[in-house]
Amino acid sequence: MSTANGSVERLAQMIRDARSAVALTGAGISVPSGIPDFRSPGTGLWESVDPMEVAHIEVFRRDPKRFWSYYRPRFGALADKQPNPAHAALAALESRGLLDAVITQNIDRLHRKAGSNRVIEVHGTIETSSCLDCAASFTLDLVEGLFDDEGVARCHGCGGPVKPDVVLFGELLPERAMNEAYALAAGADLLLCVGSSLEVHPVAGLPAVTRSAGGAIAIVTKGPTPYDQEAEIRLDGDVVDDLEALLAAL
Ligand code: ZN
Repeated sequence: MSTANGSVERLAQMIRDARSAVALTGAGISVPSGIPDFRSPGTGLWESVDPMEVAHIEVFRRDPKRFWSYYRPRFGALADKQPNPAHAALAALESRGLLDAVITQNIDRLHRKAGSNRVIEVHGTIETSSCLDCAASFTLDLVEGLFDDEGVARCHGCGGPVKPDVVLFGELLPERAMNEAYALAAGADLLLCVGSSLEVHPVAGLPAVTRSAGGAIAIVTKGPTPYDQEAEIRLDGDVVDDLEALLAAL
């Protein structure tokens, strides 16, 4: 076993040597920004409800009032969150020409807020919401003004139900974003996985895509992942500490 410091040095070297390094991030990178990983038990906002029961496309279609009564407070809470130094470290790597893109499962837009330019949001984003009937698009700051007396966000134009542009349970992932993610993973000689347990498919398949194309994977995540044995680098400390150490080593 190498020490954490030795691993950070090695990871820094791999990033310097990589022709293409790509980051893949999950909920763990936003936890220091005060956004709980909803799959972790006992995390406040999520405690009383099973997200799969309400954040589901069928619930939205059948009962948008129920969906929004659950989702509206969450939406509001996410809107105010700010990026943390781990997001900033990935943005700094990109601006220094050391990272090609960030593929993220997060919908919180914190990578963009931190200054990352090429961000592939495979689960969508809270940045916009769309009318399901006429496809009108509303930015996040407008959505709060769309709610009717029942607590359902309704389109100004046609009155149709407005849904956040995030992938709900029961929905397919956006095809264009997934194609871009697969192409990046296949072309990366280093896939830097940060704050993801790498268990939610199909994103969980991306490290295997990189590996089978001859690339290496590095994992900076608390807790086990299915790829721990295959990872060239495995860090499981605090995500902010690890990425700041990495930045300092470059
Ligand atoms: Zn509409």
